[in-house]
Amino acid sequence: MPSYKLSLTMYTEKVRQVVSRAAQEHAFALGWKWRGSGEKEAQEMTAPYVYFGSDGYLMYGTDSRCYSIDNNHEITAEGFLNLTKESLLQKTLDLCPFCGKGVAEIFPAEDASNQFHVVCNFKKGGCGASSGYASSLEGAVDKWNTRKGTEEDSSVF
Ligand SMILES: [Zn+2]
Repeated sequence: MPSYKLSLTMYTEKVRQVVSRAAQEHAFALGWKWRGSGEKEAQEMTAPYVYFGSDGYLMYGTDSRCYSIDNNHEITAEGFLNLTKESLLQKTLDLCPFCGKGVAEIFPAEDASNQFHVVCNFKKGGCGASSGYASSLEGAVDKWNTRKGTEEDSSVF
């Protein structure tokens, strides 16, 4: 998953705890957990910085120096709370193995069968190659990221 860092320094004590808890609970729903304990319980809510690692682990920071040298993507609390699982997974999609463009997107199956596939979006200049269907968002992403451009593509539109 992508990584993010969140500064809570603009919030005062009680508000910070509320915002931190909300961001952490959203992170748990998206698949992050605390490094070390592996817990999905809000903690360290007075810490001024929270990190959401690409390895799926949450960390907290107390020092602005750590925050400034870290190259994770900075995000606002509002931006983080608006992240969806789909938008996170979207960022993990590889370039199209057929045309090399980065316009692939996750789509639900058109027959509403609760399946998903990744398609190189021709409306955005892509070639229409598809990953094949999977029963989860993650499964579709896996299928897409392991496709080889040398495979015969029976699903090009
Ligand atoms: Zn393509």
